[in-house]
Amino acid sequence: MEKKTSNIFSDLEDFFNFIDECIGNVCFVVEEKKNNYDKISPGELTGSELKKSINGEKKHKVSIFESIIRECSKLPEPYTAIHEEKSKVIKEIAERIKRCRDCELHKGRTNAVPGDGNPNSYVVFVGEAPGYDEDKRGKPFVGKSGKLLNKLIEDILAMKREDVFITNVVRCRPPQNRTPDKKEMETCSHYLFEELDVIKPKLVVALGAPAAKVLLDRDEKISELRGNFYTRSDFAVFVTFHPAFIIRNPAYMEVLQEDFKKIKEFLQAI
Ligand code: URA
Repeated sequence: MEKKTSNIFSDLEDFFNFIDECIGNVCFVVEEKKNNYDKISPGELTGSELKKSINGEKKHKVSIFESIIRECSKLPEPYTAIHEEKSKVIKEIAERIKRCRDCELHKGRTNAVPGDGNPNSYVVFVGEAPGYDEDKRGKPFVGKSGKLLNKLIEDILAMKREDVFITNVVRCRPPQNRTPDKKEMETCSHYLFEELDVIKPKLVVALGAPAAKVLLDRDEKISELRGNFYTRSDFAVFVTFHPAFIIRNPAYMEVLQEDFKKIKEFLQAI
């Protein structure tokens, strides 16, 4: 175990990623000893607090970081185990999605499309169903809509696509990219809730009306729901436009960008 944790944090960037992935699970206390921060044990400082403090300008914080990397073999095993366990269960769900024949949509697919990304992310993006490119590649949001989503994640949230988890309500491409119908969504959405159960995100972003409907069970129009946070017992939901709508209606781009700024504020406050 010791060797393994040391290997995980080969550099500073690696450790940042670990903190990102484990926010809410990892606790550290960094104790000062003759200007060296040399002891780490489970305690009061959460991963997000640690990350915030390290993002501050103060130079000595970097030395905290470096000593954490040196001392990382002292991290308790359950924290790395959580990461491995979540990835394993997400992969099992993906395998079932790939074999699924529960509705007629499976007949027209090239590939079913499981969720993709960081299973420890505290934000999950949910679209409606795979399109042409996603069906060909078996990955969500890899076409034009995906490019726009990636850009918003990078430019506004200052995150990488790999940092977050991206998924859909329905896992097989509907003919001619039509909106999935009620029955298809009802049949398929248990996969989404299984993924969310494993990931335990703080925030789920509904991209468009079908995702909002499944996550909130509300019938208002997307134009009425969007731009707002909603509370569920397990996570918050934020509703915004689907990127494909913005590609067809570029006049709404600024609205989508403003929505992503709200998402950023929410994530910063966690
Ligand atoms: N649109 C979606 O809703 N999901 C995808 O994966 C791609 C496009």
